[in-house]
Amino acid sequence: MRDIIERFGLARVINAAGWMTALGSSRTDPVAARLASEIQSHFVRIDELQAVASQAISEATGAEAGVVVGCSASGISCSVSACMTGLDLGIVEQLPATDNIKNEVAMMRGHRVSFGANVDQVIQLTGAKIVEFGGATQAERYQLEHAIGDKTAAAFFMVSHHTVQDGQIPMEGFIASCHERKVPVIVDMASEYDLTGPIAKGADLVIYSAHKFLSGLTGGIVAGRKDLVQAVHLQSRGIGRTMKAGKESIVSAVGALKSWKRRSSDAVPDEERRRLSFWADNLRGLDGVEVDIFQDWTGNALERLILRIDPKIAKLHAWNLVDELQRGETVVYTREDHLEHEIVLLDPCNVSDQEAKIVAGMITEVLTRAKAKSVPRESWAERKDRSQRGAADWPDKHLERISRRSAKT
Ligand SMILES: *Cc1c(COP(=O)(O)O)cnc(C)c1O
Repeated sequence: MRDIIERFGLARVINAAGWMTALGSSRTDPVAARLASEIQSHFVRIDELQAVASQAISEATGAEAGVVVGCSASGISCSVSACMTGLDLGIVEQLPATDNIKNEVAMMRGHRVSFGANVDQVIQLTGAKIVEFGGATQAERYQLEHAIGDKTAAAFFMVSHHTVQDGQIPMEGFIASCHERKVPVIVDMASEYDLTGPIAKGADLVIYSAHKFLSGLTGGIVAGRKDLVQAVHLQSRGIGRTMKAGKESIVSAVGALKSWKRRSSDAVPDEERRRLSFWADNLRGLDGVEVDIFQDWTGNALERLILRIDPKIAKLHAWNLVDELQRGETVVYTREDHLEHEIVLLDPCNVSDQEAKIVAGMITEVLTRAKAKSVPRESWAERKDRSQRGAADWPDKHLERISRRSAKT
């Protein structure tokens, strides 16, 4: 019996990269999947279903209310819009024209990053204008307070490994300065496990991904102050219409939150620990590779395996290893957070025990080949340029591969 990957001629992907939208995010939680499938054959009042979701989001986050949107990026856009429009439908319909309303969003320079798309654009497509403050690696509360003025609609704060990790204003102080000036704070925590922290600290709107660690269908969750969540929901009559969540996403987010409550813990899960030790035991001792365990940047209960490559001994760079792992019929994706510093990170949260063995075997195989000088070496500069050139290859290159695979089976 050929599975769906074979029937469509797709590459078999082992995901040692984490919660990646571009790799299909997560294995859908069984409860979330069952609810999504069950609701397909029913009609519902979407507003009623969103009210059910609001209750589930409140329970999970401690917020007054919540709503499900198309994805985390749309959660950001709709939250920024909500802070500009309030409950005024006329203004909801007027966006992205913002000349006659408060339209500025204060934001630290170190938080203006890309998560696969630039957060700047996700904010600006609403018609909002970003007022940046601080330097890339240092921001202070007086700078935030100086950036706030008569036109400030909101301030935006991101918690993510994507942001600059040094010298930023901590969330508590950021919120205090904004609230003294009656400015609502939007926190994007799309990939963070802490569902209650930012609300407890006073954040006005908080965005989580429904499809990353929560393992629901594609969706975004916005939790927060009731009037602002109502305004987020109202965006479905405005720019939010182009990013809407359907009944299946809304109901699966409810299921995903319930399952997460059972699943989540402050400690790294045992099965993830087991895979990390398996990798450490198997990859330690390879020539030119140092093995270590790395605690997640932003404090999630998550550890990853670090492979530090010494290119003089290993005869390849970290990025050469990563590229080799993506060349075969079974491909392994790793985290590239520190790749240019000769570091490969293996994330255990979406890898089965069976797949962990394949990953260790493939890494050992590439490193053995490299010692015999049969792995192509490319400089970081060349690799970085090449990674931007593939954009126009879709779909021809992919269809070619698919038809090659289908011919084989
Ligand atoms: C993944 C991510 C996003 C985008 O999430 P989508 O749900 O794929 O739109 C936004 N912000 C942060 C911090 C993320 O990690």
